[in-house]
Amino acid sequence: MKLIFLGPPGAGKGTQAAGVSAHLGVPHISTGDMFRSAIKNQTPTGIEAKKYLDAGELVPDSVTIAMVRERLSMDDCRNGYLLDGFPRTVDQAIALDSISAPDAVVDIDVPDERLLSRLTGRRICGKCQGTFHISKLADERTCPVCGGEVYQRNDDKPETIATRLKAYHEQTEPLIGYYKGLGKLRRVNGDNQLEDVFKAILATLE
Ligand code: ADP
Ligand code: ZN
Repeated sequence: MKLIFLGPPGAGKGTQAAGVSAHLGVPHISTGDMFRSAIKNQTPTGIEAKKYLDAGELVPDSVTIAMVRERLSMDDCRNGYLLDGFPRTVDQAIALDSISAPDAVVDIDVPDERLLSRLTGRRICGKCQGTFHISKLADERTCPVCGGEVYQRNDDKPETIATRLKAYHEQTEPLIGYYKGLGKLRRVNGDNQLEDVFKAILATLE
């Protein structure tokens, strides 16, 4: 199964993708995670990408497409993939169709006014990489799963969030029409409990 998760920043793509990829037995490929790890390891891609992530802007297509092309050629992708955060532009979607076209595209829909509080409240565990909302943490600094210390992503500050939402509406939202035209689009209401969204995603893939 070759799958794409589409949706605005904060829609819950990453959280749902982790569960769905385990359920389907295909690798969860998050371009955001790949960029953050490249930045941490100071690879050439990371050095190039850093300024865009810090600003909340999209990394240029040439860099992103090359990174994904390489990742999809790896052995664990032979039975499919679950892409989270890619494609984010129509040119990326066209490139993906020539590399390895998706079977289905799940658009996780959440209204803009809900996204801001989701993003500003998002915390990441530095140890297990789990994602949590601050309202669900008994202790604001501690991961409820592994006890590691949680932190706020650099680009989850209000100024940067505005830029990311703008990039989503201008550059990524047109993909909804692109995949609708190809008959591959499935829509799921993401403004719900995690378990309900998970069930709705599986139902739409039946
Ligand atoms: P979110 O979906 O919560 O905004 P991600 O972790 O998916 O966060 O992405 C973080 C940042 O990584 C983006 O703001 C952008 O700078 C970069 N990025 C991730 N995926 C892509 C992509 N497909 N094309 C261009 N830039 C990307
Ligand atoms: Zn943890």
